[in-house]
Amino acid sequence: MKPPVRRLTRQVKVGTLSLGSDAPIGVQAMTNTDTGDPQATAAQVERLAAAGAELVRITVNSHEAAAQVAAIRNLLDRRHVDVPLVGDFHFNGHRLLATYPECAQALAKYRINPGNVGKGARRDEQFCQMIEVACRYDKPVRIGVNWGSLDPELLAQMMDRNAALPTPLAADAVMREALVVSALESARRAIEVGLPADHIVLSAKVSHVQDLIEVYRNLAARCDYPLHLGLTEAGMGSKGIVASTAALAVLLQEGIGDTLRISLTPEPGGERSREVQVAQQILQTMGLRAFTPQVVACPGCGRTSSVFFQELAQRIEVYLQAQTPVWRTRYPGVERLQVAVMGCVVNGPGESRLADIGISLPGAGEHPSAPVYLDGERVMTFKGPSIAEDFIQLLEAYVLARYGHQPQPLAALLSTQAPIAKHR
Ligand code: SF4
Repeated sequence: MKPPVRRLTRQVKVGTLSLGSDAPIGVQAMTNTDTGDPQATAAQVERLAAAGAELVRITVNSHEAAAQVAAIRNLLDRRHVDVPLVGDFHFNGHRLLATYPECAQALAKYRINPGNVGKGARRDEQFCQMIEVACRYDKPVRIGVNWGSLDPELLAQMMDRNAALPTPLAADAVMREALVVSALESARRAIEVGLPADHIVLSAKVSHVQDLIEVYRNLAARCDYPLHLGLTEAGMGSKGIVASTAALAVLLQEGIGDTLRISLTPEPGGERSREVQVAQQILQTMGLRAFTPQVVACPGCGRTSSVFFQELAQRIEVYLQAQTPVWRTRYPGVERLQVAVMGCVVNGPGESRLADIGISLPGAGEHPSAPVYLDGERVMTFKGPSIAEDFIQLLEAYVLARYGHQPQPLAALLSTQAPIAKHR
């Protein structure tokens, strides 16, 4: 099935990464360490990059934080972690960027929230000072407006104008329009100051799914800047994952979105890299990118004879996750591998045939044997207590045969592999 056609945009370079149009949709993450602690922050950036983050944002909120940004970059470079860093600036960003030139230089992109850069006349002055630094160091900028910190003066003006209309819009409609106007007007101002248009990415984050969809559709229709997607304050656990997926899937299906971040609140002690995995899963399940081999497993039902089926599905999933970092460098293309682990004869053979490699386990009352499929063909039947080990061994052989430096035809694999010989 063809993936959705992407919206045409300008392309923005962020370090070694490109965002927009035909560049892959970038996966971002944000640290939650104190940026003033370079060891802890570099370690978390490294973990996020290892999980697959292609751009990592760090907060630069204080002199202590700004003073450590170059050290964080150096620590990462020494560990050969080349992920670009984005600095998140708010109220004092103009001062920090001016005071710490090594911070301005070490960052690959600046995130500026025009609602949080100052009040009154100082808002424009301080926003422009940050843009001037971006111009001086040739850095791209994300102009990121946010529902919770929308420029109050702009909103008040738009509310007043709306109130004077013969048929005023609802207040929330004016707020959504104000978000779009704030992003577009800030981009226009940045260009006036001298920032090239291909150095601008926009975002307009809100915390409600329907509002987010409407805001981004509107923004996408009115500009050709790459858009950074994200549902802000998505929440914890499955609620945050579902809400983010619901909002972003609609937009991605319409070709909107060039980079994304899933703003999950980690559970106490939870790993920050969960947000990276969720972002990757959204893109992969929509056919927009491939990151890791996928397991197709049925949910199980009354026909599933034992927990063996769930255990095997989980074991394969864990095994694939563990292997993927190594496999990706050794076996190009393996991230598109589909493995089926099914619970009974009802859908097992059909799904297994559609996968690259699949196993259909016996359901309740079925003969205790598990037909195995490779490239759509039933090639053997596993039996006995070592089904799980044999299937993993076959999976390894299949990956080597199909994605290795010297790919083997299926017939050669079938003639040489021990588990196959044992079960044929
Ligand atoms: S494949 Fe079989 S065990 Fe799995 S959900 Fe369908 S009927 Fe149930």
